[in-house]
Amino acid sequence: MPADYYETLGVSRSATQDEIKKAYRKLAHKHHPDKGGGDEEKFKEINNAYEVLRDAKKRSQYDQYGHGFDGSGPGPAGGHGGFGGFDSGGFTINMDDLGGMGDIFESVFGGSNRGRSARRSRGSDIESNIEISFRESATGVTKTVQQRVYDTCSKCHGNGAEPGTPITTCTTCNGAGSTAQNFQTPLGTFAQRVACQACRGEGKIAKTPCTTCHGEGREKMNRTLDISIPAGIADGQTIRVTGKGEAPMKGGTAGDLYVNVHVQTDRNLARDRDNVRSQVAISFIDAALGAEKLVEMLSGAKTIRIPAGTQPNAEFRFEREGFPHLQSSGKGDHIVTVKVEIPKKLSKKQRELLEQFREAPKKKGIFF
Ligand SMILES: [Zn+2]
Ligand SMILES: [Zn+2]
Repeated sequence: MPADYYETLGVSRSATQDEIKKAYRKLAHKHHPDKGGGDEEKFKEINNAYEVLRDAKKRSQYDQYGHGFDGSGPGPAGGHGGFGGFDSGGFTINMDDLGGMGDIFESVFGGSNRGRSARRSRGSDIESNIEISFRESATGVTKTVQQRVYDTCSKCHGNGAEPGTPITTCTTCNGAGSTAQNFQTPLGTFAQRVACQACRGEGKIAKTPCTTCHGEGREKMNRTLDISIPAGIADGQTIRVTGKGEAPMKGGTAGDLYVNVHVQTDRNLARDRDNVRSQVAISFIDAALGAEKLVEMLSGAKTIRIPAGTQPNAEFRFEREGFPHLQSSGKGDHIVTVKVEIPKKLSKKQRELLEQFREAPKKKGIFF
């Protein structure tokens, strides 16, 4: 069972918000774990109590129901989670009420800023657009992109030192990469480790900085890069090439390259998910009598047989003639839709023959 929140902050149950805030500040100061004689457990308790009592609604709930009302009492859910205060990974600090010390508190207690003092630089992510043909999107293709970007320095290969000169341990931080800095705050003096300015957190320093990059380890240059585009990619998809963004400052990690792929349309073929669709035009005679037609597919021209009695808009499916699936093995299909053409003009002879056909004896119950 957590201690009584009022007792924790040393205030009466009728304390005003101002009194609660004052008591919190005083205790947070006293027990701050980054101070000599600080107590992290106690500090958490204080924050937990304040998190509830500072909020009028939570406070009145607490007054009414105590610790039990939100599952913060004993039991499987106990110990944290109450009032949006401490979560399992850390706890909420009331930055505003501590008077602009949020930064220090965050860096002491982690959360998303854990280890910020050791954070290294990262090169920028960059974007590139590539246009490929419809067929290239089916087969896959390698394209070359040219960009003016920060790339690893060609002279020092990124270590920032003039070739032939030594890289020595940073004398400012003695190789630690970070230095302790004291911050004066209304609550007293706090120490925080920050990245060493002299070596940018590297711990090492070039005695003679590279004259090309001035020790940065990178330079702007025209870079040519081959991008392998996988078979089956669709228009509008983006490829991420890890580490092929801009080079970082010495000691950091490179950004990523995002390649936006644009697929040109094709005169005869269209994409429908991983299937290809196309049309074949036949005369009404061929539809009635059957015919063979040359149809363009991704794998080349293929002769297909249109059976006698084919109806307008009939579809013929050719399995595995479509796009390769990007996420799995296998391929889509090619679907051919039949367009039946009716002549708008007839020669005299054709007209006579069709009239003969019309007058010819019909089978019973057949329209033609
Ligand atoms: Zn260089
Ligand atoms: Zn240093």
